[in-house]
Amino acid sequence: MKNFNPADNIQDLQYFGEFGGVNPSISDSSTYTFLSAKTMFDTFEGNAEGCYLYSRHSSPSNLYLDKALAAMEGTESANVAASGMGAITPTLLQLCSHGDHIVSSRTIYGGTYAFLKNFTPKFGIRTTFVDITKLDIIEASITPETKVLYCETVSNPLLEVADIAGLAKIAKKHNIKLVVDNTFSPLSVAPAKLGANIVIHSLTKYINGSSDTVGGVVCASQEFINDLKNVNNGASMLLGPTMDSLRSASVMKNLRTLHIRMKQHSHNAQYLAEKFEKDGLKTVYPGLKSHPSHELYKGMINPEYGFGGMMTIDVGTLDKANELMELMQQRNLGYLAVSLGFYKTLFSAPGTSTSSEIPLEEQAAMGLTDGLIRFSIGLDNDIERTYSMMKACMLELGILDQSMVLAE
Ligand SMILES: *Cc1c(COP(=O)(O)O)cnc(C)c1O
Repeated sequence: MKNFNPADNIQDLQYFGEFGGVNPSISDSSTYTFLSAKTMFDTFEGNAEGCYLYSRHSSPSNLYLDKALAAMEGTESANVAASGMGAITPTLLQLCSHGDHIVSSRTIYGGTYAFLKNFTPKFGIRTTFVDITKLDIIEASITPETKVLYCETVSNPLLEVADIAGLAKIAKKHNIKLVVDNTFSPLSVAPAKLGANIVIHSLTKYINGSSDTVGGVVCASQEFINDLKNVNNGASMLLGPTMDSLRSASVMKNLRTLHIRMKQHSHNAQYLAEKFEKDGLKTVYPGLKSHPSHELYKGMINPEYGFGGMMTIDVGTLDKANELMELMQQRNLGYLAVSLGFYKTLFSAPGTSTSSEIPLEEQAAMGLTDGLIRFSIGLDNDIERTYSMMKACMLELGILDQSMVLAE
């Protein structure tokens, strides 16, 4: 999407605070007064534009952030939530009822996987998990009951890339909704512009970027957002995963620097991935030519923001992975922690952490090995220095071979 620039869309929003402040005033109220009883009735019925009812439904601060995130994804509307899961679960429950079926990528966030595998069957919603890179298998998995095709743009933790335009075509043909979790690739990829119906983010990660809160958002048509917020049958309204106004105001301030951060995350990850691969480590990064979806992804991204900040290396065994992570933390190269999008590098072994919901045999089938370390590369100003220090840790632990590295 060459003409779609999400960072410009965010930049171009203009807000004035209640007293002329450069930041919109934070609405610190759970309930709102009405001058006339008639307006209160109309608001309940959803017919009073610009009126607020109760902050579980919406609040001025949340609407500002909704608007900015809708502008970022190029959708009509958006609805923020208290967490990424608070955005994903109401969306799926809104779209599916008892007897319905979902076709989902098998390499998705562990919480989403657990929700589809263990939780939604209680409500008679069945999911088939597929290899998201195989469009023919995906199409063959669609049944007359299928309502949703679900994937992540870049999957967690194996960094498989979903062909969103290809998936959108299949979804359209079968009249089902394509729901895309774009958490790993904000600004880089605009799934709605490639044909996705609904785009979801965990704001906890890159968008907020400071690892100080959880948050989520659903970006979609005005009609779907209204459905989610409907006081009679809206899953967001009734399940209640509402973001607090103070938090949405702080997330919005962080959103304004997202474009600068994404460029640095991508720059640093690209540098390290190239170096590690050259050193002979098994490295997975969509920005490497060796990545099976490199060409596909190259055609999907806004090149300004690069291939993102997530990469994995495989150091052979879980023991080696744990030793390396502990040593890197000791040397202050980052934190042994789950999550992503922080200014410091974060690393974890997905098999025993974020993907531990996935049974071991299924982990093996999808190529999720014991020695895999997932990195969320930080905003380090001097990435060459970081590389030298990481390499020193790997040499010390025998993960890299002295002779190979010296030969460089
Ligand atoms: C973290 C994450 C989620 C869940 O978000 P929370 O904010 O932790 O609820 C969903 N999808 C992806 C890809 C994630 O990384």
